[in-house]
Amino acid sequence: MVMADSVQKPLLRGPVRVGFYDIERTLGKGNFAVVKLARHRITKTEVAIKIIDKTQLDAVNLEKIYREVQIMKMLDHPHIIKLYQVMETKNMLYLVTEYAKNGEIFDYLAKHGRLSELEARRKFWQILSAVDYCHNRNIVHRDLKAENLLLDGHMNIKIADFGFANFFQPGEPLATWCGSPPYAAPEVFEGQQYEGPQLDIWSMGVVLYVLVCGALPFDGPTLPVLRQRVLEGRFRIPYFMTEDCAVSQAGRLSQNSPAVNGSASSLAAD
Ligand code: AMP
Repeated sequence: MVMADSVQKPLLRGPVRVGFYDIERTLGKGNFAVVKLARHRITKTEVAIKIIDKTQLDAVNLEKIYREVQIMKMLDHPHIIKLYQVMETKNMLYLVTEYAKNGEIFDYLAKHGRLSELEARRKFWQILSAVDYCHNRNIVHRDLKAENLLLDGHMNIKIADFGFANFFQPGEPLATWCGSPPYAAPEVFEGQQYEGPQLDIWSMGVVLYVLVCGALPFDGPTLPVLRQRVLEGRFRIPYFMTEDCAVSQAGRLSQNSPAVNGSASSLAAD
């Protein structure tokens, strides 16, 4: 790791410069971090810098952040946000990463509505190639969802946020409750141990549905209701979904029960 020896700190407003980068604006907030858009002072390249205040973290969460860094350093794939540089001071950690100019696919869908199946297939293929790449390196993401699928300037997928990612060994199940409930697999709701890759594959089924329908397959006003719907494996196939797509969805998402026909409710921000 590189020490951030030139982190300029004006009063009250946080740093406006990190290393060679000038901070421009806030892009988003994660669990323990704020993500800023920044620009290299000489090359003018735009980057996203995840800024973590280590003093706010307990030992367990600090360890998780270091694991996120360790995992991101191992990944070099066209559809995964690239980690360029890590800077660290006594209290702060700065992760300089590739910038995905068009933001979250979640926001894109909320603004423009569902994708055509052709476009969804192109995006889904990119997600699949990135997740396969991770699984081949014994890494599971464990928080695949529309909010963590970013879009670059050419509308290509960039998977972000490896905060819940972990290493797995085939045949050695994991147990930690991870991810966002609408994307969580039945075995997670049942509190069972799970095979890491299967968890990502379930979430990808939910993602595919979200891309094609602009709505979640499993939703509910409360966690117990959502849990019930996920465990039943029942979801609606809207009228506009082609038969080919419906068959592929049923293969990915339904456990025992077939999908039911009807209209899908609209995507709600959580
Ligand atoms: P994270 O803590 O990684 O979940 O980041 C929080 C939010 O910041 C994300 O949901 C995005 O909206 C935004 N963000 C994070 N990384 C990037 C990036 N590399 N490019 C653009 N936006 C980002």
